[in-house]
This record gives sequence, structure tokens and C-alpha cells, in this order.
Amino acid sequence: MRATSNPKTLRRLLSRIRDVMAGTGTAQARLDLIVSAIAGDMVAEVCSIYVLRPGEVLELFATEGLKATAVHQTRLRIGEGLVGNIAAQAQPLALADAQSHPQFAFRPETGEEIYQSLMGVPILRDGRVLGVLVVQNRTHRRYTDEELEVLQTVAMVLAEMVAGGELVNRDELLHADSNALLPSRIAGTKFGDGIGIGAAVLHQPQFVLSKTVADDPVSERKRLHNALSDMHGALDKMLSAAPFKAGGEHAEILEAYRMFALDTGWASRIEEAIDSGLTAEAAVQKVRNDIRTRMSQVADDYLRERVQDFEDLANRLMQHLMGVPNVFDKARLPENAVVVARTMGPAELLDYDRERLRGVVLAEGSATSHVVILASALNIPVVGRVKAILERVGDGDQIIVDGDNGQVFLRPDQDVLEAFNESQAQQADRQAYYAEVRNEPAVTRDGTRIGVQINAGLLLDVGHVKESDLDGIGLYRTEIPFMVRQHYPDVPEQVEFYRKVYELAAGKPVTFRTLDVGGDKILPYWDSAEEENPAMGWRAMRVALDRPALLRQQIRALVRAAAGQDLRVMFPMVAEVAEFRKGRQLFEMEYARAQAAGAVLPRSVALGVMLEVPSLVFQLPALLNDVDFVSVGSNDLFQFLFASDRGNPQMSGRYDPLSPLVFRLLTQVLADCRAADVPVAVCGEMASRPLEAMTLIGLGFRALSISPSTVGPIKAMIRSLPVPPLQAFLDSLLDGPQHSVRETLKAYARDHGIEA
Ligand code: PEP
Ligand code: MG
Repeated sequence: MRATSNPKTLRRLLSRIRDVMAGTGTAQARLDLIVSAIAGDMVAEVCSIYVLRPGEVLELFATEGLKATAVHQTRLRIGEGLVGNIAAQAQPLALADAQSHPQFAFRPETGEEIYQSLMGVPILRDGRVLGVLVVQNRTHRRYTDEELEVLQTVAMVLAEMVAGGELVNRDELLHADSNALLPSRIAGTKFGDGIGIGAAVLHQPQFVLSKTVADDPVSERKRLHNALSDMHGALDKMLSAAPFKAGGEHAEILEAYRMFALDTGWASRIEEAIDSGLTAEAAVQKVRNDIRTRMSQVADDYLRERVQDFEDLANRLMQHLMGVPNVFDKARLPENAVVVARTMGPAELLDYDRERLRGVVLAEGSATSHVVILASALNIPVVGRVKAILERVGDGDQIIVDGDNGQVFLRPDQDVLEAFNESQAQQADRQAYYAEVRNEPAVTRDGTRIGVQINAGLLLDVGHVKESDLDGIGLYRTEIPFMVRQHYPDVPEQVEFYRKVYELAAGKPVTFRTLDVGGDKILPYWDSAEEENPAMGWRAMRVALDRPALLRQQIRALVRAAAGQDLRVMFPMVAEVAEFRKGRQLFEMEYARAQAAGAVLPRSVALGVMLEVPSLVFQLPALLNDVDFVSVGSNDLFQFLFASDRGNPQMSGRYDPLSPLVFRLLTQVLADCRAADVPVAVCGEMASRPLEAMTLIGLGFRALSISPSTVGPIKAMIRSLPVPPLQAFLDSLLDGPQHSVRETLKAYARDHGIEA
């Protein structure tokens, strides 16, 4: 037998549940009525509800069909049995033959041995599992997708009942671990530097739906449409007032977000849920749960991040529907606030008063998520991937965000707090000092002038070049603007973008690196094949030479944008001279095309190469005849030199660039470049670390391109450095066999008063 699952049946079931919930009697009595209503309507012999209790156990709270004596007795750990598995995965499960499933765990006290089939769904709220709803049948019943949908809708209604605090104390739901109130240190991933101390503000608005089932879909739809149009109006207002309205990729991010808001597919799914008998609010929650469930199985980071935009919109829509005052009201934000979220959309961060925001803690997130890009542009410390933070933190708890080390301290002890207060104060002093040094000339104690440029990818970074005494942009990573867009930008879009870069650089030189995509730098709209070894795979120049049209378009845009200016272009991941030559040929074709079209040409052109594949080091004499400049990409160069993945934390620290073997390699590069009279700079992260930068200067480099945030410390080092004695000292280290001479160099710096 099949339960029909057309909207009418579902509506009837929901309205029965509503009547029960509105009725009198204890919460337990109502739950008992609900399970029997579900069992009846879904033509199941069993319907049971398990609720999550402290200690990560699921307790049988009500059942129709299993033995009544098992209620409040049967308990399953998360992950134990099929029910525990549904909770652990937060995924539904439908099995015609449940007993042969490897996870099946038979509980004799329930008498469930006679039931063959099982369908269960997690009871989810705000992304957390609050329990599990299960139906079972004696026969090998094949549950349909529609039946699963019905059960999920009912589970959504139940979630509100559990969250309402009638069945279990609401505190239980907040603090799932028994040590929740003790101080704790929780490790995460560093996404934004700095230390932030303040009171936790739980970002997820805690909506409790008083009504989940509605009789009149027409009026619910009307409420939805009104709320949607209010939301669009409020969003337009907010986004046009955002600090990034001047343009750049932050504006792009927000624009993409606005597009999501207008997505008709999302709205029509909410309407469908309303038609099945839910209130508009419950329908929004239902669609949110569906999106979460589906997307949690998607491996693609980019798509998963986009779910966050929908989450953000769902929250906003709920606020408009429920008339809840804006939970991000400035007035409600504590003086020092640390926002804690599962993850957030970019617009959500802008809701908070920047003046009061000390840090952000995310349970999920990735370095490339839009909120992290925005936070770092705003200099807000961020720690992400902090497991179970939401289960452990309460609103107002004191919290320390240690963005420098990727950890948070929850309800810290006085000692810890004092230590962080002190280091924060020291940091503030140092920041003030660095802010001054930034503007000083980059000249060593003995008068050697060092070229200091910055690496940029965001327009916001480019703006820094004006602020301090800097020599330009030594590495402009063109793939970054490609990565934050929703589509591949065409030539006019690229021209517009590169023009902005020139404008912001205000006459200082900019070195544009052509697209370095592939590997870990994935374009969201680019269907790239899985590669076993992406860093050494089809990336950067390899893609460009196989798909010359892409590179030609980019060069076309660069040549146009550089009209009347100096154009500097370099190619990434070149492994052979021949590759550079092919790139140059493509450049020349585009240049000739612009010439033929009578376009205003660049004032000068320089073509360079990134030195980041070791094979190229051995071809330098030939290469140097062809190139106008070289930039050492130490990040990739060393990962390939040592065969040591730069992104793998287990590998970090295994090899040290401060070692004689690296010095010998770099000395050779310098000697070749000098002999050929070709300028050479270092643009990898190595140049952004004071001790390493000191060493590079000691070896003979006179041009560094560094990340904007390190200009202060690097200039402080340069201005305290006497070069000649360091040169001699490094010479004495060149032939050593050491794994690392880091400590030796640290001691040298200390003894010579060098701020490294
Ligand atoms: C490098 O490899 O050192 C470099 C600067 O390029 P990216 O970090 O963008 O790969
Ligand atoms: Mg590189």
C-alpha cells in the first residue's frame, strides 16, 4: 500500500498536527497524538520521534507502534544504528530492507524486529540536528521521494516544537556538551590576522515559529510576496550605502548576492511549500533545510559557499515576515562584539557596526569565502572552521579570537585574558609604530635603496600603493577578480577593470601577471576536470598556451587599458624558454592588432616571467636574452624544489627556505640576472617575512614585492639593516649542509639590532 502524497494529503496531515499542537494537554500527550497521526496518514505501522539529549544521545520520546515501555528508555548515540546515523549525517534515509543495512542496530526493548522497512529524516533547525523522525513498515516497502518530502515537512514542524522548549529545556539545545560552561580553547583555521576580544554575538537569529501550519495558502503567499518586496527594497538600500559602493570586487560580490535575492526559483520553491500547508515562515525554513541537505553533499567549495548567500537571504526574509526588529541593530551590539556564525554571507557582515566589531568566528567557511575576503579588507580578525563552536558558545560569553594562530578561547580564565590583553596592547603599539614606518623611505642603514612594491589582487589592495612610500605593484594577480565573478569577464569588462587598477595605482608601475588559474585557483564557472596533482597540473601558462584565445583576450584587454601608460606583463608557471616565447608571440599578435586598429598604444611594454618552476633556473642564460624582467615566485619555486605541497599544513616547516641550498640557488639566479643585466625581484611570501626579506637583501636582491599588510614590518627591518656585514656573513654560510640556518640568522639580527 502507498500513502498518497499530494499536497492535499500533506495539508490534511499538517492541519491535524496543528490542531493537536493547539490543543490542551501536556507536551508529551500532544507528541503521542502527533506520532499516531503521522503513522495513520503515512500508512506506516510505526512512527517514532527521537530527541537529542545532552551527551549526544537520541532518546525515544514518543512512538506509535513500538513498545510504549521503550519511551524515554531507548537511547542511541549519534552514529549508532540507523537512527543515530541519520542524525550523524543530518541526511534522510529510506530503506526497503532496513535490517540488512550494516548500520542496523536492533534494540530488543522496542520490539522493532518485525519491521522490515524504515524511512527516517533528521529534525533540523538552524542547521543543527535536534532529533530524528522515523516511520517503519512490516513489509519491504519502497518509500517514494514524495513520501520522504512529506516526512521532511513534518520534521520541520516538529523542529519548532522541540525548539520551543516544551519537550526539553532550551538550555539543553544550546549547550550540547556537558562541559559547555568551562573555559576552553578551540582550534580552528586562521582566516584573518589579529586579536579580537569581546562578547559573543550569535549571528544566527533565533527564530521560534509560533505557527507552522496554515489554512489559507493564498494569504500566506501574499505575506510572502510582501515580505520579498520589502526585503528587496531594504537590500537595495543597504547595499548602496555599503562602504564598498565605490566599485571593485566587493561591489561585485554584493551584486552577485543581490542576484540571488531575485532568484525566482528560490521564491517559487517557497510558494510550493506554502501550497503544501505551511505558513510562509515555515515554508522559508523548509526550503532552507532542503538546500542545506542537498548542498552538504556537494564537494564543490564554491557552490557550498553560495548556499550561505541563500541562508543569509532566508534570515532576512524571516525578519520581514515576522516583523522581528533587525537583530543586527547597532544599538543591540555590545561595545566589543565578536560575531559567531556557522558561516555568513558577505552582506551580513556589513550589517554589523564596524566600530564595535572585534572579530568573527565561523564554524565553517573557507579562505576564499566572500565574508572572509570582506573581513580581511576591513582588517577584522577571523578564525574559521572552529568545530562545534555553535554548540558551545552562548550569547554574551566572553571570547578571544586569535586570528594570528587560528584559535579561539571561550570564557577564558583571567590569566589567559590578561595575556591576550597585553599582547593586544603590544600589537596596538607595534601597529602604531609600523603605521609610521610605512611612510618612511626603504633605505638601509648603509644607504642602500631597496625597491618595495606590493602584491595585489583586490582593488582594495591596489589602493594601498598611494598610502605609503611604495614603488608600485610588483605582482598583480589577475585571477583574483576572475575568481569572485559569476561569469568569465569579456574583454570590455576586463579593460574596465584593468583601467581601474591603473587609476588606483596613480602613476606607479603595475606588473600584471596573466591568469594563474587551475590547480587550487578554481574559477566558479570553469568546468575543470579533477586532477590527481593539481599544483603540477593544467594551470596557469599551460592553460593559456592550450587555450590561446583566453590569453589573447586578456592581453587585448591589458593593451587597451594601458593606452598611454607603461605596460608590464609577466607569465606564471613557465617551465621552459619555449613557453615564454609562445606567450610573447601571442602578446605580439595582440599588440600588432591594436596597432593596426589605430588604438592608442601603451607608452612602453615590458614582458617578464615568474621564476617559480625549478626547471627554468637551469635555462636562465637563454631565457634572459628574451625577457625584460624576472620575478621569483618563491611559494611555488620551493614547493617544487622540495617536492613539498605549499598548502598542506603537515608539510609546513618541514623544509626551510632559510637554508644554504636555497641560498645557493638564489645566488645563482642573481648572478645570471646580473650578468644579463635583467632586473630581478622576489614576489613570493618569503619577501613578506622580515627575517627572510633580510636574507634576500643580504644575498643581493634589491627589489621585493610584498603583501600590503607587511609593509610596516619589512620597512622597519630594512631601515635597521646594515647590508655589507650581512653579505659577508651569508657568504660564509653558502656551502653548509644545514637543514636550516634560521636560528643563526635570528641571532645575527638580534646582535646587529636588525628588526627582523
Ligand atoms: C609564488 O608562487 O610565489 C607566487 C607569488 O605566486 P602565487 O602565490 O600566486 O602562486
Ligand atoms: Mg605561484
